[in-house]
Amino acid sequence: MLKLFNTLSRQLEEFVPLEAGKVRMYICGPTVWNFAHIGNFRTFIFGDILRRYLKYKGFEMTHVFNLTDIDDRIINEAAKRNISIGEFTAPYIEYFWEDFDALGNERPEVTPRATEHIAEMIDIIAKLIENGRAYESDGSIYYRIAAFPEYGKLSKISFEGNIAGASERVDTDKYEKEDARDFALWKLVGADEEPGWDAPFGRGRPGWHIECSAMSMKYLGETFDLHAGGMDLQFPHHENEIAQSEGATGKLFSKYWVHSEFLKIDDVTMSKSKGNFFTFRDLREQGYSPLAIRYLLLSVPYRKQLNFTFEGLKAAESTTERLRNFRQLVREARIPEAPADTRAIDAVSAAMKAFEAAMDDDLNTAAALAAVHDMVREVNTILAADGLTTEGKAAALEAIEKIDSVLGIFGKEDCGLLDEEIDALIAERQEARRRRNFARSDEIRDELAAKGIIIEDTKDGMRWRRK
Ligand code: AMP
Ligand code: ZN
Repeated sequence: MLKLFNTLSRQLEEFVPLEAGKVRMYICGPTVWNFAHIGNFRTFIFGDILRRYLKYKGFEMTHVFNLTDIDDRIINEAAKRNISIGEFTAPYIEYFWEDFDALGNERPEVTPRATEHIAEMIDIIAKLIENGRAYESDGSIYYRIAAFPEYGKLSKISFEGNIAGASERVDTDKYEKEDARDFALWKLVGADEEPGWDAPFGRGRPGWHIECSAMSMKYLGETFDLHAGGMDLQFPHHENEIAQSEGATGKLFSKYWVHSEFLKIDDVTMSKSKGNFFTFRDLREQGYSPLAIRYLLLSVPYRKQLNFTFEGLKAAESTTERLRNFRQLVREARIPEAPADTRAIDAVSAAMKAFEAAMDDDLNTAAALAAVHDMVREVNTILAADGLTTEGKAAALEAIEKIDSVLGIFGKEDCGLLDEEIDALIAERQEARRRRNFARSDEIRDELAAKGIIIEDTKDGMRWRRK
Protein backbone atom coordinates (compact mmCIF):
# COMPACT_ATOMS: atom_id res chain seq x y z
CA MET A 1 0.00 0.00 0.00
CA LEU A 2 1.57 3.27 -1.14
CA LYS A 3 1.72 6.08 1.39
CA LEU A 4 2.54 9.64 0.41
CA PHE A 5 3.06 12.72 2.53
CA ASN A 6 0.18 15.00 1.61
CA THR A 7 1.10 18.66 2.06
CA LEU A 8 -2.61 19.46 2.46
CA SER A 9 -2.92 17.39 5.64
CA ARG A 10 0.78 17.39 6.60
CA GLN A 11 0.40 13.67 7.07
CA LEU A 12 1.39 10.40 5.50
CA GLU A 13 -1.72 9.17 3.75
CA GLU A 14 -2.58 6.01 1.93
CA PHE A 15 -2.81 6.82 -1.76
CA VAL A 16 -6.30 6.02 -3.06
CA PRO A 17 -7.16 7.53 -6.44
CA LEU A 18 -10.58 8.97 -7.17
CA GLU A 19 -11.21 6.36 -9.84
CA ALA A 20 -10.04 2.81 -9.16
CA GLY A 21 -7.01 1.81 -11.21
CA LYS A 22 -6.39 5.25 -12.67
CA VAL A 23 -4.25 8.17 -11.63
CA ARG A 24 -4.60 11.69 -12.91
CA MET A 25 -1.55 13.69 -11.97
CA TYR A 26 -0.17 17.15 -12.68
CA ILE A 27 3.40 18.25 -12.18
CA CYS A 28 4.59 21.81 -12.74
CA GLY A 29 7.22 21.81 -15.46
CA PRO A 30 10.04 24.18 -16.34
CA THR A 31 10.04 27.79 -17.42
CA VAL A 32 11.78 27.53 -20.77
CA TRP A 33 13.90 30.66 -20.70
CA ASN A 34 17.28 28.99 -20.21
CA PHE A 35 18.83 25.55 -19.63
CA ALA A 36 17.34 23.69 -16.69
CA HIS A 37 19.86 23.10 -13.89
CA ILE A 38 20.31 19.87 -11.98
CA GLY A 39 18.28 21.29 -9.08
CA ASN A 40 15.32 21.53 -11.44
CA PHE A 41 16.09 18.00 -12.56
CA ARG A 42 16.10 16.71 -9.01
CA THR A 43 12.45 17.74 -8.87
CA PHE A 44 11.66 16.35 -12.33
CA ILE A 45 13.36 13.02 -11.59
CA PHE A 46 11.34 12.82 -8.37
CA GLY A 47 8.21 13.34 -10.52
CA ASP A 48 9.39 10.65 -12.92
CA ILE A 49 9.89 8.16 -10.10
CA LEU A 50 6.51 8.98 -8.61
CA ARG A 51 4.96 8.38 -12.04
CA ARG A 52 6.85 5.14 -12.64
CA TYR A 53 6.13 3.74 -9.21
CA LEU A 54 2.42 4.41 -9.69
CA LYS A 55 2.65 2.50 -12.97
CA TYR A 56 4.56 -0.27 -11.19
CA LYS A 57 1.63 -0.49 -8.75
CA GLY A 58 -0.63 -1.12 -11.73
CA PHE A 59 -2.26 2.29 -12.14
CA GLU A 60 -3.02 3.65 -15.55
CA MET A 61 -1.53 7.13 -15.73
CA THR A 62 -2.63 10.41 -17.18
CA HIS A 63 0.27 12.58 -16.27
CA VAL A 64 0.32 16.22 -17.33
CA PHE A 65 3.59 18.15 -17.24
CA ASN A 66 3.46 21.71 -18.50
CA LEU A 67 5.97 24.02 -20.06
CA THR A 68 5.78 27.65 -18.95
CA ASP A 69 6.62 29.42 -22.19
CA ILE A 70 5.57 32.91 -21.18
CA ASP A 71 6.68 34.99 -18.22
CA ASP A 72 8.49 38.26 -17.60
CA ARG A 73 11.96 36.80 -18.10
CA ILE A 74 10.97 35.27 -21.43
CA ILE A 75 9.33 38.47 -22.60
CA ASN A 76 12.39 40.55 -21.63
CA GLU A 77 14.91 38.18 -23.21
CA ALA A 78 12.91 37.97 -26.46
CA ALA A 79 12.55 41.76 -26.58
CA LYS A 80 16.32 42.20 -26.09
CA ARG A 81 16.92 40.01 -29.13
CA ASN A 82 14.08 41.53 -31.09
CA ILE A 83 12.42 38.15 -31.70
CA SER A 84 9.05 36.70 -30.76
CA ILE A 85 8.67 34.76 -27.50
CA GLY A 86 8.02 31.62 -29.59
CA GLU A 87 11.32 32.06 -31.43
CA PHE A 88 13.08 32.65 -28.15
CA THR A 89 11.69 29.60 -26.32
CA ALA A 90 11.86 27.06 -29.20
CA PRO A 91 15.53 26.08 -28.72
CA TYR A 92 15.17 25.91 -24.92
CA ILE A 93 12.20 23.60 -25.27
CA GLU A 94 14.28 21.36 -27.49
CA TYR A 95 17.26 21.41 -25.08
CA PHE A 96 14.95 20.68 -22.20
CA TRP A 97 13.55 17.51 -23.75
CA GLU A 98 17.01 16.39 -24.82
CA ASP A 99 18.23 16.64 -21.23
CA PHE A 100 15.02 15.17 -19.82
CA ASP A 101 15.32 12.12 -22.10
CA ALA A 102 19.05 11.72 -21.59
CA LEU A 103 18.50 11.58 -17.83
CA GLY A 104 16.30 8.54 -18.40
CA ASN A 105 12.93 10.15 -17.65
CA GLU A 106 9.75 8.84 -19.19
CA ARG A 107 7.76 11.35 -21.20
CA PRO A 108 4.43 12.22 -19.53
CA GLU A 109 1.23 11.61 -21.49
CA VAL A 110 0.43 15.31 -21.94
CA THR A 111 2.99 18.14 -22.14
CA PRO A 112 1.00 21.33 -22.76
CA ARG A 113 2.43 24.78 -23.32
CA ALA A 114 0.98 27.83 -21.60
CA THR A 115 0.74 29.94 -24.75
CA GLU A 116 -1.47 27.30 -26.36
CA HIS A 117 -4.01 27.47 -23.51
CA ILE A 118 -4.84 31.14 -23.25
CA ALA A 119 -8.52 30.58 -24.08
CA GLU A 120 -8.87 28.17 -21.14
CA MET A 121 -7.24 30.72 -18.83
CA ILE A 122 -9.61 33.44 -20.04
CA ASP A 123 -12.58 31.15 -19.26
CA ILE A 124 -11.50 30.64 -15.66
CA ILE A 125 -10.83 34.35 -15.14
CA ALA A 126 -14.27 35.19 -16.59
CA LYS A 127 -15.87 32.79 -14.09
CA LEU A 128 -13.96 34.34 -11.21
CA ILE A 129 -15.05 37.85 -12.23
CA GLU A 130 -18.61 36.64 -12.46
CA ASN A 131 -18.65 35.10 -9.00
CA GLY A 132 -16.92 38.04 -7.36
CA ARG A 133 -13.54 36.41 -6.78
CA ALA A 134 -11.72 38.60 -9.28
CA TYR A 135 -11.77 42.32 -9.98
CA GLU A 136 -10.38 44.82 -12.40
CA SER A 137 -7.96 47.51 -11.38
CA ASP A 138 -6.26 49.83 -13.88
CA GLY A 139 -7.08 47.39 -16.69
CA SER A 140 -5.52 44.33 -15.02
CA ILE A 141 -7.47 41.57 -13.30
CA TYR A 142 -6.65 40.45 -9.75
CA TYR A 143 -7.75 37.59 -7.58
CA ARG A 144 -9.71 38.75 -4.52
CA ILE A 145 -8.26 36.60 -1.77
CA ALA A 146 -10.69 37.99 0.81
CA ALA A 147 -13.43 36.20 -1.15
CA PHE A 148 -11.80 32.77 -0.71
CA PRO A 149 -11.80 32.01 3.03
CA GLU A 150 -9.83 28.80 2.59
CA TYR A 151 -6.81 30.68 1.27
CA GLY A 152 -3.73 29.39 3.08
CA LYS A 153 -4.96 25.82 3.55
CA LEU A 154 -2.02 24.32 1.65
CA SER A 155 0.88 26.44 2.86
CA LYS A 156 -0.61 26.94 6.36
CA ILE A 157 0.62 30.50 6.23
CA SER A 158 -1.44 32.70 8.49
CA PHE A 159 -2.61 35.91 6.92
CA GLU A 160 -4.18 37.45 10.00
CA GLY A 161 -3.70 41.18 10.14
CA ASN A 162 -2.60 41.41 6.54
CA ILE A 163 -5.96 42.42 5.18
CA ALA A 164 -7.23 44.97 2.71
CA GLY A 165 -6.57 48.60 3.31
CA ALA A 166 -4.00 47.97 6.02
CA SER A 167 -1.53 50.83 6.25
CA GLU A 168 1.48 48.52 6.14
CA ARG A 169 0.61 47.51 2.61
CA VAL A 170 3.57 45.73 0.99
CA ASP A 171 2.50 46.35 -2.53
CA THR A 172 5.37 46.55 -4.97
CA ASP A 173 3.18 46.20 -8.02
CA LYS A 174 2.59 49.27 -10.10
CA TYR A 175 -1.17 48.80 -10.03
CA GLU A 176 -3.62 49.26 -7.20
CA LYS A 177 -4.84 46.13 -5.48
CA GLU A 178 -7.54 45.89 -2.84
CA ASP A 179 -5.33 43.71 -0.69
CA ALA A 180 -1.56 43.28 -0.74
CA ARG A 181 -2.00 39.50 -1.03
CA ASP A 182 -4.12 39.71 -4.18
CA PHE A 183 -2.31 38.47 -7.23
CA ALA A 184 -2.58 39.17 -10.95
CA LEU A 185 -4.63 36.84 -13.10
CA TRP A 186 -4.39 38.97 -16.22
CA LYS A 187 -1.95 41.79 -16.85
CA LEU A 188 -2.94 44.73 -18.99
CA VAL A 189 -1.02 44.99 -22.28
CA GLY A 190 -1.16 47.98 -24.65
CA ALA A 191 -2.78 47.75 -28.09
CA ASP A 192 0.49 47.30 -30.01
CA GLU A 193 2.45 45.62 -27.28
CA GLU A 194 3.47 41.99 -27.78
CA PRO A 195 2.78 39.40 -26.56
CA GLY A 196 -0.85 40.11 -25.85
CA TRP A 197 -4.19 38.38 -26.27
CA ASP A 198 -7.68 39.81 -26.58
CA ALA A 199 -10.10 38.91 -23.81
CA PRO A 200 -13.60 40.11 -22.90
CA PHE A 201 -11.95 41.99 -20.02
CA GLY A 202 -9.32 43.62 -22.22
CA ARG A 203 -6.12 42.86 -24.10
CA GLY A 204 -3.49 41.39 -21.84
CA ARG A 205 -1.37 38.42 -20.90
CA PRO A 206 -1.85 35.81 -18.19
CA GLY A 207 -0.29 35.75 -14.74
CA TRP A 208 1.83 32.69 -13.98
CA HIS A 209 -0.47 30.86 -11.57
CA ILE A 210 -3.52 30.78 -13.85
CA GLU A 211 -1.58 28.76 -16.44
CA CYS A 212 -1.40 25.68 -14.27
CA SER A 213 -5.05 25.86 -13.19
CA ALA A 214 -6.08 26.00 -16.85
CA MET A 215 -3.80 23.25 -18.16
CA SER A 216 -4.43 20.84 -15.30
CA MET A 217 -8.22 21.09 -15.37
CA LYS A 218 -8.35 20.90 -19.16
CA TYR A 219 -6.65 17.49 -19.28
CA LEU A 220 -7.51 16.04 -15.88
CA GLY A 221 -10.94 17.45 -15.05
CA GLU A 222 -11.94 19.86 -12.27
CA THR A 223 -10.91 17.40 -9.56
CA PHE A 224 -7.93 15.10 -9.95
CA ASP A 225 -5.71 12.91 -7.81
CA LEU A 226 -2.29 14.35 -7.41
CA HIS A 227 -0.43 17.59 -7.90
CA ALA A 228 3.32 17.81 -7.39
CA GLY A 229 6.26 20.16 -7.75
CA GLY A 230 9.24 21.60 -5.93
CA MET A 231 8.98 22.88 -2.37
CA ASP A 232 9.17 26.54 -3.41
CA LEU A 233 5.96 26.15 -5.38
CA GLN A 234 3.84 25.46 -2.28
CA PHE A 235 3.47 29.16 -1.74
CA PRO A 236 2.34 31.20 -3.49
CA HIS A 237 2.06 29.19 -6.73
CA HIS A 238 0.10 26.16 -5.53
CA GLU A 239 -1.87 28.10 -2.95
CA ASN A 240 -2.98 30.41 -5.76
CA GLU A 241 -3.77 27.51 -8.09
CA ILE A 242 -6.14 26.17 -5.42
CA ALA A 243 -7.74 29.59 -4.95
CA GLN A 244 -8.27 30.02 -8.70
CA SER A 245 -9.49 26.52 -9.44
CA GLU A 246 -11.66 25.89 -6.39
CA GLY A 247 -12.79 29.50 -6.51
CA ALA A 248 -14.05 28.94 -10.07
CA THR A 249 -15.51 25.43 -9.78
CA GLY A 250 -16.51 25.16 -6.12
CA LYS A 251 -14.97 21.67 -6.14
CA LEU A 252 -11.86 20.12 -4.63
CA PHE A 253 -8.95 20.75 -7.02
CA SER A 254 -6.38 18.07 -6.16
CA LYS A 255 -6.73 15.34 -3.53
CA TYR A 256 -3.01 14.94 -2.81
CA TRP A 257 -0.23 17.52 -2.95
CA VAL A 258 3.35 16.30 -2.94
CA HIS A 259 6.41 18.56 -2.75
CA SER A 260 10.05 17.72 -3.16
CA GLU A 261 12.95 19.33 -1.34
CA PHE A 262 15.81 21.31 -2.77
CA LEU A 263 19.12 20.39 -4.21
CA LYS A 264 21.73 22.51 -2.49
CA ILE A 265 25.33 23.24 -3.17
CA ASP A 266 27.63 24.20 -0.30
CA ASP A 267 24.43 24.23 1.72
CA VAL A 268 22.85 26.99 -0.36
CA THR A 269 19.83 26.24 -2.59
CA MET A 270 20.93 25.83 -6.18
CA SER A 271 19.30 28.51 -8.30
CA LYS A 272 19.71 30.49 -11.48
CA SER A 273 19.50 33.80 -9.70
CA LYS A 274 22.27 32.92 -7.24
CA GLY A 275 24.46 31.64 -10.06
CA ASN A 276 25.48 28.59 -7.97
CA PHE A 277 24.24 25.97 -10.40
CA PHE A 278 25.34 23.26 -12.81
CA THR A 279 23.32 22.29 -15.80
CA PHE A 280 23.17 18.69 -16.97
CA ARG A 281 25.31 19.77 -19.92
CA ASP A 282 28.00 21.24 -17.65
CA LEU A 283 28.39 17.87 -15.95
CA ARG A 284 28.30 15.94 -19.23
CA GLU A 285 31.12 18.12 -20.53
CA GLN A 286 33.14 17.15 -17.49
CA GLY A 287 32.65 13.53 -18.45
CA TYR A 288 29.99 12.43 -15.94
CA SER A 289 27.40 9.98 -17.21
CA PRO A 290 23.65 10.69 -17.25
CA LEU A 291 23.12 7.53 -15.23
CA ALA A 292 25.41 8.69 -12.40
CA ILE A 293 23.76 12.12 -12.34
CA ARG A 294 20.35 10.48 -12.13
CA TYR A 295 21.52 8.09 -9.42
CA LEU A 296 22.88 10.93 -7.32
CA LEU A 297 19.73 13.03 -7.66
CA LEU A 298 17.43 10.21 -6.61
CA SER A 299 19.64 8.72 -3.92
CA VAL A 300 18.17 10.86 -1.14
CA PRO A 301 14.40 10.62 -0.40
CA TYR A 302 12.52 13.49 -1.97
CA ARG A 303 11.50 15.17 1.30
CA LYS A 304 15.09 15.55 2.43
CA GLN A 305 17.46 18.17 1.12
CA LEU A 306 20.39 16.92 -0.88
CA ASN A 307 23.74 18.65 -0.96
CA PHE A 308 25.52 18.32 -4.30
CA THR A 309 29.23 17.47 -4.21
CA PHE A 310 31.61 16.14 -6.84
CA GLU A 311 32.68 13.41 -4.41
CA GLY A 312 29.03 12.31 -4.32
CA LEU A 313 28.84 12.37 -8.09
CA LYS A 314 32.05 10.35 -8.44
CA ALA A 315 30.72 7.79 -5.99
CA ALA A 316 27.49 7.59 -8.02
CA GLU A 317 29.60 7.04 -11.13
CA SER A 318 31.32 3.98 -9.67
CA THR A 319 28.08 2.67 -8.15
CA THR A 320 26.22 2.78 -11.45
CA GLU A 321 29.16 1.16 -13.19
CA ARG A 322 29.07 -1.63 -10.60
CA LEU A 323 25.34 -2.08 -11.16
CA ARG A 324 25.79 -2.35 -14.91
CA ASN A 325 28.65 -4.82 -14.53
CA PHE A 326 26.50 -6.87 -12.21
CA ARG A 327 23.72 -7.08 -14.78
CA GLN A 328 26.22 -8.10 -17.43
CA LEU A 329 27.69 -10.77 -15.16
CA VAL A 330 24.26 -12.23 -14.45
CA ARG A 331 23.38 -12.15 -18.12
CA GLU A 332 26.53 -14.03 -19.06
CA ALA A 333 26.40 -16.44 -16.13
CA ARG A 334 26.79 -20.07 -17.17
CA ILE A 335 24.42 -22.52 -15.58
CA PRO A 336 26.31 -25.02 -13.41
CA GLU A 337 25.40 -28.66 -13.41
CA ALA A 338 24.40 -28.56 -9.81
CA PRO A 339 21.41 -29.62 -7.79
CA ALA A 340 18.54 -27.20 -7.41
CA ASP A 341 19.45 -24.24 -5.25
CA THR A 342 17.00 -21.56 -4.20
CA ARG A 343 19.43 -19.18 -2.49
CA ALA A 344 19.45 -16.67 -5.35
CA ILE A 345 15.68 -16.80 -5.73
CA ASP A 346 15.27 -16.22 -2.01
CA ALA A 347 17.71 -13.32 -1.99
CA VAL A 348 15.99 -11.73 -4.99
CA SER A 349 12.51 -12.08 -3.58
CA ALA A 350 13.59 -10.65 -0.20
CA ALA A 351 15.18 -7.71 -2.04
CA MET A 352 12.05 -7.09 -4.10
CA LYS A 353 9.93 -7.11 -0.94
CA ALA A 354 12.26 -4.63 0.72
CA PHE A 355 12.31 -2.50 -2.44
CA GLU A 356 8.51 -2.29 -2.50
CA ALA A 357 8.22 -1.65 1.22
CA ALA A 358 10.68 1.23 0.87
CA MET A 359 8.92 2.75 -2.12
CA ASP A 360 5.51 2.30 -0.47
CA ASP A 361 6.87 4.30 2.44
CA ASP A 362 6.57 7.71 0.80
CA LEU A 363 9.04 6.76 -1.98
CA ASN A 364 12.01 6.12 0.28
CA THR A 365 14.55 5.80 -2.50
CA ALA A 366 17.51 5.51 -0.11
CA ALA A 367 16.04 2.37 1.46
CA ALA A 368 15.04 1.08 -2.00
CA LEU A 369 18.65 1.44 -3.17
CA ALA A 370 19.87 -0.36 -0.05
CA ALA A 371 17.63 -3.30 -1.04
CA VAL A 372 19.11 -3.27 -4.54
CA HIS A 373 22.66 -3.32 -3.17
CA ASP A 374 21.81 -6.16 -0.79
CA MET A 375 20.57 -8.18 -3.72
CA VAL A 376 23.66 -7.41 -5.78
CA ARG A 377 25.95 -8.45 -2.93
CA GLU A 378 24.17 -11.73 -2.25
CA VAL A 379 23.79 -12.76 -5.87
CA ASN A 380 27.44 -11.87 -6.49
CA THR A 381 28.49 -14.17 -3.67
CA ILE A 382 26.48 -17.03 -5.13
CA LEU A 383 27.85 -16.30 -8.60
CA ALA A 384 31.40 -16.39 -7.34
CA ALA A 385 30.91 -19.60 -5.34
CA ASP A 386 28.64 -22.04 -7.17
CA GLY A 387 27.11 -20.09 -10.03
CA LEU A 388 23.46 -19.34 -10.63
CA THR A 389 20.75 -21.84 -11.44
CA THR A 390 18.53 -21.20 -14.45
CA GLU A 391 15.76 -20.04 -12.14
CA GLY A 392 18.08 -17.90 -10.05
CA LYS A 393 19.42 -16.18 -13.13
CA ALA A 394 15.93 -15.55 -14.50
CA ALA A 395 14.76 -14.17 -11.14
CA ALA A 396 17.73 -11.81 -10.87
CA LEU A 397 17.27 -10.49 -14.41
CA GLU A 398 13.56 -10.01 -13.89
CA ALA A 399 14.19 -8.13 -10.63
CA ILE A 400 16.69 -5.83 -12.32
CA GLU A 401 14.15 -5.08 -15.01
CA LYS A 402 11.37 -4.38 -12.49
CA ILE A 403 13.56 -2.16 -10.33
CA ASP A 404 14.70 -0.29 -13.38
CA SER A 405 11.16 0.27 -14.61
CA VAL A 406 10.94 2.56 -11.55
CA LEU A 407 14.42 3.91 -10.80
CA GLY A 408 16.19 3.78 -14.18
CA ILE A 409 19.64 3.32 -12.59
CA PHE A 410 20.88 0.33 -14.57
CA GLY A 411 20.05 2.12 -17.79
CA LYS A 412 19.60 0.76 -21.27
CA GLU A 413 21.43 -2.39 -22.17
CA ASP A 414 24.86 -1.83 -23.66
CA CYS A 415 25.31 -4.42 -26.38
CA GLY A 416 29.09 -4.02 -26.41
CA LEU A 417 29.15 -3.53 -30.17
CA LEU A 418 30.08 -0.36 -31.99
CA ASP A 419 27.87 0.82 -34.83
CA GLU A 420 30.60 -0.11 -37.35
CA GLU A 421 30.82 -3.62 -35.95
CA ILE A 422 27.08 -4.03 -36.32
CA ASP A 423 27.24 -2.67 -39.88
CA ALA A 424 29.98 -5.18 -40.71
CA LEU A 425 27.99 -8.10 -39.28
CA ILE A 426 24.94 -7.06 -41.25
CA ALA A 427 26.98 -6.82 -44.46
CA GLU A 428 28.33 -10.29 -43.75
CA ARG A 429 24.81 -11.55 -43.19
CA GLN A 430 23.66 -10.15 -46.53
CA GLU A 431 26.61 -11.76 -48.24
CA ALA A 432 25.84 -15.09 -46.53
CA ARG A 433 22.27 -14.92 -47.76
CA ARG A 434 23.42 -14.12 -51.28
CA ARG A 435 25.51 -17.29 -51.16
CA ARG A 436 22.53 -19.15 -49.72
CA ASN A 437 24.48 -19.85 -46.53
CA PHE A 438 21.39 -19.60 -44.36
CA ALA A 439 23.01 -21.22 -41.37
CA ARG A 440 25.52 -18.36 -41.10
CA SER A 441 22.85 -15.77 -41.83
CA ASP A 442 20.68 -17.09 -38.98
CA GLU A 443 23.65 -17.27 -36.67
CA ILE A 444 24.41 -13.58 -37.21
CA ARG A 445 20.77 -12.64 -36.75
CA ASP A 446 20.63 -14.56 -33.44
CA GLU A 447 23.89 -13.09 -32.22
CA LEU A 448 22.63 -9.58 -32.87
CA ALA A 449 19.22 -10.31 -31.35
CA ALA A 450 20.89 -11.58 -28.17
CA LYS A 451 22.65 -8.24 -27.93
CA GLY A 452 19.45 -6.29 -28.34
CA ILE A 453 19.95 -5.33 -31.98
CA ILE A 454 16.81 -5.56 -34.02
CA ILE A 455 17.15 -6.09 -37.78
CA GLU A 456 14.41 -5.00 -40.10
CA ASP A 457 14.11 -5.77 -43.80
CA THR A 458 12.78 -2.68 -45.53
CA LYS A 459 12.29 -1.90 -49.18
CA ASP A 460 15.49 0.12 -49.02
CA GLY A 461 17.45 -2.82 -47.65
CA MET A 462 18.32 -4.01 -44.20
CA ARG A 463 18.10 -1.59 -41.28
CA TRP A 464 18.96 -2.09 -37.65
CA ARG A 465 18.24 -0.41 -34.36
CA ARG A 466 19.04 -0.94 -30.71
CA LYS A 467 16.23 -2.25 -28.57
P1 AMP B 1 11.32 26.75 -12.91
O1 AMP B 1 11.88 26.36 -14.24
O2 AMP B 1 12.07 27.88 -12.27
O3 AMP B 1 9.83 27.01 -13.00
O4 AMP B 1 11.52 25.52 -11.91
C1 AMP B 1 11.18 24.23 -12.25
C2 AMP B 1 11.12 23.33 -11.04
O5 AMP B 1 12.40 23.18 -10.43
C3 AMP B 1 10.18 23.80 -9.94
O6 AMP B 1 9.35 22.69 -9.56
C4 AMP B 1 11.09 24.19 -8.80
O7 AMP B 1 10.49 23.94 -7.56
C5 AMP B 1 12.26 23.26 -9.02
N1 AMP B 1 13.53 23.73 -8.45
C6 AMP B 1 14.12 24.93 -8.60
N2 AMP B 1 15.31 24.98 -7.93
C7 AMP B 1 15.47 23.77 -7.34
C8 AMP B 1 16.48 23.18 -6.52
N3 AMP B 1 17.58 23.83 -6.16
N4 AMP B 1 16.29 21.90 -6.10
C9 AMP B 1 15.19 21.22 -6.45
N5 AMP B 1 14.20 21.72 -7.22
C10 AMP B 1 14.33 22.97 -7.67
ZN1 ZN C 1 2.48 25.20 -11.87
